Amino acid sequence: MDKKIKATGSVVEAFSNLLHVRFDGNIRQGEVAKVKVGSVELLAEVIEIAGQIAKIQVFEDTRGIKLNTAVEFADHLLEAELGPGLLTMIFDGLQNPLQKVAEATGVYLSRGVYIAPLDRKKHWDFHPIAKVGDVLKRGDALGSVPEERFSHTIMVPLSFFGKVKITSVTKAGSYNIDTVVARGEDEKGRAVEFTMVQRWPVKNALIEGRKVRPTRMMDTGLRILDTQFPILKGGTFCSPGPFGAGKTVMQHHLSKYSAVDIVVIVACGERAGEVVEVLRTFPELTDPHTNEPLMQRTVMICNTSSMPVAAREASVYMGAAIAEYYRQMGLDVLLLADSTSRWAQAMREMSGRLEEIPGEEAFPAYLPSRISAFYERAGEVQFKNGKTGSLTIGGSVSPAGGNFEEPVTQASLAIVGAFHGLSRARSDARRYPAIDPLISWTKYLNEVGVDLDPKYKGWADKVRATALILKDSDEIGKRMEVVGEEGVAIEDMLTYLKGELYEFCYLQQNAFDKEDAYSPLDRQIEMFALIQKIFDTRFEFDTHDAARTFFLNLQNELKNINFLPYASEKYKEALREIQKKIALKEGKVHA
Ligand code: ADP
Ligand code: MG
Repeated sequence: MDKKIKATGSVVEAFSNLLHVRFDGNIRQGEVAKVKVGSVELLAEVIEIAGQIAKIQVFEDTRGIKLNTAVEFADHLLEAELGPGLLTMIFDGLQNPLQKVAEATGVYLSRGVYIAPLDRKKHWDFHPIAKVGDVLKRGDALGSVPEERFSHTIMVPLSFFGKVKITSVTKAGSYNIDTVVARGEDEKGRAVEFTMVQRWPVKNALIEGRKVRPTRMMDTGLRILDTQFPILKGGTFCSPGPFGAGKTVMQHHLSKYSAVDIVVIVACGERAGEVVEVLRTFPELTDPHTNEPLMQRTVMICNTSSMPVAAREASVYMGAAIAEYYRQMGLDVLLLADSTSRWAQAMREMSGRLEEIPGEEAFPAYLPSRISAFYERAGEVQFKNGKTGSLTIGGSVSPAGGNFEEPVTQASLAIVGAFHGLSRARSDARRYPAIDPLISWTKYLNEVGVDLDPKYKGWADKVRATALILKDSDEIGKRMEVVGEEGVAIEDMLTYLKGELYEFCYLQQNAFDKEDAYSPLDRQIEMFALIQKIFDTRFEFDTHDAARTFFLNLQNELKNINFLPYASEKYKEALREIQKKIALKEGKVHA
């Protein structure tokens, strides 16, 4: 292959981590550049080109950069290295493996140190799939290796275009990732060879397949999500909320319990030490579905505090590329970003340095398009072999003061399929998860009904009817605050009590209780049916007091069921007791 001469340049101006570089040769937007400071090379990215001046942002501390500091352009975009060995890894935004970094230099990287993302020495059991004579295209399987409990597909890289005729395939055996596993001839008769590693530019979506409409529910074990505001595999959701409302706790819950194969977590910590805490605790957790270490299905991208904000931006994209890679194998992947506001702030800082015309709250005018492009990488994809894979994306948003009328929340709401808004009032009242059912929504309710068992036909309608009860209950509650309990009709008070019961016994969930933390879908369906029964029952009470007493008792008994092991004798007994109790009161006049 002809080797291109790489473009080079030198620094003419520096403004924090934004450098103006005069260059010779051909470069493109998004290309990686290396800034040579003494013996270290700092990674940077081209963000603007005007004539022979490139504006580049450095991902690291820029001390030591001077006029005429040399810059070399790498002739490739910011890329992720993809292959067996990504699972269990914790990377920074530039894909440095942080566990290895910790072994080498303590928790944080020294400046200019880059460590190969994947282990070059480790051997993997390769099983060939392609055969000599096969004509393949990008994304087609060459073979597979077992990685944790998954079959990791080794494919024709997505950077390969056209057809390749396979001329040899390496036999089954144990090899490292740089081993050539297949050779072939491209359409022009040139020899090509493939290893177990490929590189994808991180900023653009990569898919080989056809996007289809998502229809499968992503079961999370959180009742307020699965029942009231469900998410689909391949869908998107966002959870804005004020500081301390429980966004991070919720994202951790989702990473633990969501019914997907692979979880990619992008942690842009809000509090100092939060990311370190994640690094410390996460590797010790077990997967509640398989009892295996949770890390076996997880890839984590963490921003270390030693890196400037530019690396935060990279980390969101790095996470997306890794997530897309596993989707391409036909797996269900969940990408969680906490918090996307930190990423938006990085954009704002850079935009300020570029002296772009600022939009709302000084965010760049392209903020909404960047946010949409990120969420649009989600989706259910059908591949040529009939298999499907999905990428679900969920981001938290942390607007200052919990004000949702700000650009990051608004741009996210404009694109996502489900909105789970956390409220300060609820977290202050310790009503967790603090998702406000009166403001939250999902566009996936109808599809969820399709995915569920036929016996739950009409589920979506019941959920909608329940939302109305919540709304009425809230209004009546407010009225009662003014006029007192006796000031409203008993009928109205019953609606209020029903809404409260649903909130207290069903929507609230204790993230730290062994049984309550995760509510399997069957359990949700059973409990929801029981609550529907309560909603449909025509209770008759003589006095407001009698109604209140009856409901408070019922509420406590129902709540206690949440803490009993699912389908245990005690659980079944408690359900029967409640059913009896309701039947007794049905239509009876009570003195
Ligand atoms: P945020 O990320 O929104 O700033 P966190 O997720 O860190 O907030 O939550 C702050 C605190 O609130 C937690 O440390 C925990 O004490 C409490 N909390 C949040 N969610 C729950 C929950 N589901 N159950 C019990 N406590 C919770
Ligand atoms: Mg948080």
